[in-house]
Amino acid sequence: STGSIGKGPVMSSAGCGNPYAGLVALLRAAWRSGKTRPMEYRMAQLEALGRFLEEKKQEILEATAMDVGKPSFEAYLIEVLLCKNELNNTLNNLCHWMKDEHVDKNLMTQLDSAFIRKDPYGVVLIIGPWNYPIHLLLGPLIGAIAAGNCVVLKPSEKAKNTGKLLAESLGCYLDSDCFAVVNAGVQETTRLLENKFDYIFFTGSPSVGRMVMASAAQHLTPVTLELGGKNPCYVSDTCDVRSVARRVAWGRFFNAGQTCVAPDYVLCSLEMQEKLMPALREAITEFYGSNPRESPDFGRIVGQKEFRRIRALLCSGRVAIGGQTDEEDLYIAPTVLADVLPSDPIMQEEIFGPILPIVVVASMEEAIDFINERPRPLAVYAFSSDCKVVTQVLERTSSGGFCGNDTLTHMTLSSLPFGGIGCSGLGKYHGKFTFDTFSHQRGCLHRNMGLEALNTLRYPPYSQQKLGF
Ligand code: NAD
Repeated sequence: STGSIGKGPVMSSAGCGNPYAGLVALLRAAWRSGKTRPMEYRMAQLEALGRFLEEKKQEILEATAMDVGKPSFEAYLIEVLLCKNELNNTLNNLCHWMKDEHVDKNLMTQLDSAFIRKDPYGVVLIIGPWNYPIHLLLGPLIGAIAAGNCVVLKPSEKAKNTGKLLAESLGCYLDSDCFAVVNAGVQETTRLLENKFDYIFFTGSPSVGRMVMASAAQHLTPVTLELGGKNPCYVSDTCDVRSVARRVAWGRFFNAGQTCVAPDYVLCSLEMQEKLMPALREAITEFYGSNPRESPDFGRIVGQKEFRRIRALLCSGRVAIGGQTDEEDLYIAPTVLADVLPSDPIMQEEIFGPILPIVVVASMEEAIDFINERPRPLAVYAFSSDCKVVTQVLERTSSGGFCGNDTLTHMTLSSLPFGGIGCSGLGKYHGKFTFDTFSHQRGCLHRNMGLEALNTLRYPPYSQQKLGF
């Protein structure tokens, strides 16, 4: 369904044959009216979004469970709590973030006012993936509203129930003149992207990211691309193996491995692989019991196509833990593969499922080379009780983000920018970074009309004396 939220379908073609042109034109008219600019309006919309999260939290948990088989604890933590944190942080700081930033002046402009205005872009498009279907749409939405934009939200067609919930409910909370939800598949999204937006914020795979950027280029629209990739996790020989195993297993098996910042593979020595194996087995049993299939805390794969792709990767290396699958239930057990080779199929693509391959390396040097020979990941993880080792990995690699001695947790801090580099993405968000992403920094000089005589210096007729030589 295509809809301006709370208003039912809007299918007017506005004369150019595109099914979404009418909707975009309505939002553009609302933006031009200036209604999204006052801080009070933005605060009221954000507060309404907070009420949506509070009043609909049960529906959110149910929808995400139906869409991805998400355990309710995980859904509550990421889809509800993290969004609320972002929202509260934004509400608490918006007044400060929105202020003009006054800047240094030169001799000629001493009597003037020079400042950076945080201008809204206008009508922005936010396209989300299915794996955290609320968080990855509402996170950017919070910043887009805070910055004074009108927004089209495009949920993933693979998170049908969540998309339906957003399309049906958000309109009861947000101003439907300015905010719309469009539930669209690939073909319809391609049509949606033909329209001119003033900013596009995309979260998804690198291959679709390329297409979105190409569409944006037609209108010279700026983009943020939050993409994926293979996040390496180096484990040095000196570490508390039990804690490392728990922290890595949690990051890998959270949401059944369908997390963009999940540790994708472990790099460690042969001795560490031997030590990690029983510790990982213990962690998995501690988290999900002896039969993870029966655990309410272990998720499922999003669909059959993804299930088959992930299952095919099990042929790499040697199954040391898990390995059981059930297509009917879209279940893949928490699995650890040992002795995986860089040439194995599982090392050629982002896994995005509950499988952890271990690739043996001879040294930290080799691990660093291994990381640097591959596309720059969204996150690099390094575990060591020796602080110097963690620092070395940080200093000698490049990635969107970094976390020493843990996985995923760096993304929970709204004071840290979150985003990729190279193939893992372009741009950053979370906290104030989201507000900045959706604001154009407009360089402004407001001149004083006095002291006109001074300007004679720059007006023709020119002379060398005027330049001071
Ligand atoms: P996807 O790229 O298949 O889909 C993302 C969105 O793009 C969906 O809304 C989908 O409808 C739309 N889309 C798909 N094909 C399209 C096309 N041809 N033209 C226009 N739009 C199209 O990604 P996904 O499967 O939903 O999510 C998984 C990927 O997202 C993984 O690579 C993961 O690492 C990445 N991801 C990144 C982050 C991050 O924050 N960096 C977060 C979550 C997921």
